[in-house]
Amino acid sequence: MRRVLTTCPYCGTGCNMYLIVEDGEVVGVAPCESHPVSEGRLCIKGWKAHEFIHSPDRLTRPLIKRHGRFVEASWDEALDLVAEKFLKIFNHYGPRALGFFSSARCTNEENYVMQKLARAAFKTNNIDHCARLCHASTVAGLVAAFGSGAMTNSINELLDARSILVTGSNTTEQHPIIGGKIIRARERGAKLIVVDPREIQLAKLADIHLRPLPGTDVAWLNSFIHVILEEGLEDRGFIRDHLESEAFEEMKKAVTSDRYSPEDTEKITSIPANDLRRAAILFASNRPGSLVYSMGITQHVQGTDNVKSVANLQMILGNVGFHATGVNPLRGQHNVQGACDMGALSSWYPGYQPVTDSEVMGRMADAWGVKVEEMDDRVGLTIVEMVEAAGEGEIKGLYIVGENPMVSDPDINHTKECLEKPFLVVQDLFVTPTTELADVVLPAASFAEKNGTYTSTQRTVSRIRKAIEPPGESKPDHWIMGQIAERVGYSGCSYPSPKEILDEINRVTPIYAGITWERIGSEDFPFGISWPCPDVDHLGTTFLHGGGNFSRGKGRCHVCEYVPPPEKPDGEYPFRLTTGRIAFHYHTGTMTRRSPTLDREVRSGYIEVNPEDAERLGIRHNRMVKVSSRRGEITVRAEVSSIVPPGVVFAPWHFEEAAANKLTIAALDPVAKIPSLKVCAVKLERA
Ligand code: SF4
Repeated sequence: MRRVLTTCPYCGTGCNMYLIVEDGEVVGVAPCESHPVSEGRLCIKGWKAHEFIHSPDRLTRPLIKRHGRFVEASWDEALDLVAEKFLKIFNHYGPRALGFFSSARCTNEENYVMQKLARAAFKTNNIDHCARLCHASTVAGLVAAFGSGAMTNSINELLDARSILVTGSNTTEQHPIIGGKIIRARERGAKLIVVDPREIQLAKLADIHLRPLPGTDVAWLNSFIHVILEEGLEDRGFIRDHLESEAFEEMKKAVTSDRYSPEDTEKITSIPANDLRRAAILFASNRPGSLVYSMGITQHVQGTDNVKSVANLQMILGNVGFHATGVNPLRGQHNVQGACDMGALSSWYPGYQPVTDSEVMGRMADAWGVKVEEMDDRVGLTIVEMVEAAGEGEIKGLYIVGENPMVSDPDINHTKECLEKPFLVVQDLFVTPTTELADVVLPAASFAEKNGTYTSTQRTVSRIRKAIEPPGESKPDHWIMGQIAERVGYSGCSYPSPKEILDEINRVTPIYAGITWERIGSEDFPFGISWPCPDVDHLGTTFLHGGGNFSRGKGRCHVCEYVPPPEKPDGEYPFRLTTGRIAFHYHTGTMTRRSPTLDREVRSGYIEVNPEDAERLGIRHNRMVKVSSRRGEITVRAEVSSIVPPGVVFAPWHFEEAAANKLTIAALDPVAKIPSLKVCAVKLERA
């Protein structure tokens, strides 16, 4: 038996674990006691992370669709076909007719190569990944407010906070190890305020639980600030020394209007005015205070404004730039932070360097050995825009790596119509509803079968290590991308190993300059280094904006006015649907549903319905119910529970046969282009 130290392939907490290997198979997982975040603990997903690796469902050979049916092909046949088709589209219609979906499930090195393939080999910024569906608004909002779009503080600092505000994050389900730290902080005396429509587990432990209607976050956040300013609880010294004064005054004027008094806010949010007042005072009076959020804040048409409002709140309290404070967005996938850092986003090169900056473009062109005049100097299309453009015939070739938009994207029926049109290449571990639509399917290696790095939600870059060989003919993602690039005449995407890719990342990405292959995993940094790390003598950065010195200079407040969600309940569709994840499953379930233990826990989708609503509609617990919106319908089991308030229903979105995203709406945040996955109007009927 061998033990191989690696990083968990599920949520963004970045727990380290050992894979236990026997006779070329991963037979189990053991926690790593010395890891500073996981401290010898793992959640159920982590403990069972080995179970999907040897699933008989793994894709092991390339597949090409001929006459509507998949047939097995050699790598040369499949790669030649992809290169030939993409080159033809490139030559006939130009680089903007191609699109690339990278993946938060791939390593940093693979994401780097994927965006280089798009930008250097195919000269397009049409490269994006699923952060667009979860935290694009975090990047947009926090870059605007602070100058950096990542979690400001580290996970363990939560233990020292005197107050913690958790909103839009069911932390004990989605980030159980972080949820455990919040519970420990609570036991040590921290005040806990939970703002969430559902009565999640943390709500039961909270000093105050506020239940806003989904889609009304800007209103309650403005009202919090209204109360804090009214009570004189803001940090005047911090505001004077560290914030842009004009922007602060404009924001102050907007939030102190009557519109955001607790009483008027109650009419929008349904939060009782006195409760809101008590919560704002409790949070402001117990500093340092940490604010934790997740997709309940970001997945809205006002997602960017929600994030800016969260930043406003923490800035006026002086809760940024110090230990145990911060604005802390929790990333849902193990490498969604890294995929963003690597520039798998339509507007950024690696390290959040803008694609529209000619000086940066010149540097990247030099590093990649391409002519600067051939580079794309416009922001590319985002995930949802690429799907739409495919439907309109503008994107003619689409290469999707490790993504499953047929379950994860909003308005799936429409997504399907769009994805049926282009020449579609999908690279994955398993057959998925998205591979079914592909012209070519390429089999990839799992986290246990390759080397590389992931970046956790707290910006820590740590190693994953190869424990076994990939099954059949499946290959690491970066090898496949390199082969496609070679076939279109660009050799810059081929590397002997991930180490050489990270060497190049170090050279072109200032925040990763000191995070070298040699350092991470060495005795000095056995569990990685947190960016920014500008050189090889730097120890990494635990919290950002130290002392209130923001990355952008001074912190900037923003005026964010409440705008109602794009679809409100009405006579025909009287319920607000909100969607989310559960403890036993990950993303679109391709891995966790192939883990017998996790699958046994929750086998399929369901919808939570408040008992009052259930009684009125004659819906009984565990019976099937038809849920419809203006875009589609699903039939799922009813879970009658007061975890949801009357008028609100909740469905997990992991399950393709009960896909909640058949119901959701593709209305986009105008800045971050994130869809409104967290709220739409539906009706319920007994099935
Ligand atoms: Fe893996 Fe997240 Fe669970 Fe840790 S908390 S074991 S990273 S899924």
